[in-house]
Amino acid sequence: MADVKSVGVIGGGQMGSGIAQLAAVAGIGVWLVDLDSEALKRATQSITNSVQRFVSKGQISREVATNALKNLKCTSNLEDLQSADVIIEAIVESEDVKKKLFSELDRIAKPSAILASNTSSISITRIASATSRPCQVIGMHFMNPPPIMKLVEIVRGADTSNETFMTVKTMAERFGKIIVCSQDYPGFIVNRILIPMINEAFFTLYTGVATREDIDTGMKLGTNQPMGPLELADFIGLDVCLSIIKVLHVGLGDSKYRPCPLLVQYVDAGRLGRKRGIGVYTYG
Ligand code: NAD
Repeated sequence: MADVKSVGVIGGGQMGSGIAQLAAVAGIGVWLVDLDSEALKRATQSITNSVQRFVSKGQISREVATNALKNLKCTSNLEDLQSADVIIEAIVESEDVKKKLFSELDRIAKPSAILASNTSSISITRIASATSRPCQVIGMHFMNPPPIMKLVEIVRGADTSNETFMTVKTMAERFGKIIVCSQDYPGFIVNRILIPMINEAFFTLYTGVATREDIDTGMKLGTNQPMGPLELADFIGLDVCLSIIKVLHVGLGDSKYRPCPLLVQYVDAGRLGRKRGIGVYTYG
């Protein structure tokens, strides 16, 4: 099992920035990579604000926060990841785009490096097939927002080695996370169950059973969840929810996973949720 001293995180959006923060706070040197320099600026700001909140709540010391910000470096150049021990990908939820990136990472990363994906639903075995090191490819599925949520779902592809699994498990525990393990089937554990519920909430709205507020209040108070499913969909991103339900539909071949037309229409209209200021709800 390798000792992880340097991590690369690709994608500085809501997930990648949170994952980079976890590694930096754990005392690991991090390169955060995004093609979009504005995304890197937003990520740096959000990480700075978030570690300051942890300090003011007494959850980390000022010294840990200062060192975390020193541990973090941003770049748009993938070649900067040459010496990373583990690279965690958190870019758009598209199999083709992820495979292209993994094939590039396979060329750039040192031979011992582990390549992990934060994919919500795409097959790790298929992503690994784009590399010459499938035994060093693994799923590391953080929950949103990564600095707060306790769980990391670890997904083993068909060829993932025990050594890769143990290195990633130990790193997740160093981040303060609790892990669960899933076999490599569509949606893994959490999204296999969560996303059909969100899709069903859209059908409930689409067929006029109830208002969005009553659907959310019903599920919040009726099943003791902190957020209703439509509110949660806006938080996750409606585009991300749609990609995942499509993966379940194709991968499991059951019509019960067909995407709700209302979810499709919102995504077509650019109503992607909180990140765009509008989804099921509108945000100020
Ligand atoms: P996001 O849209 O907030 O961020 C994606 C970032 O990746 C953007 O900043 C974009 O500029 C960058 N990017 C895209 N292609 C790139 C490339 N080739 N190289 C470098 N940067 C690139 O997305 P997100 O919500 O952070 O989701 C990222 C991944 O995490 C997806 O696979 C998603 O399924 C997964 N995930 C999302 C959630 C969630 O709740 N949103 C939860 C768990 C996992």
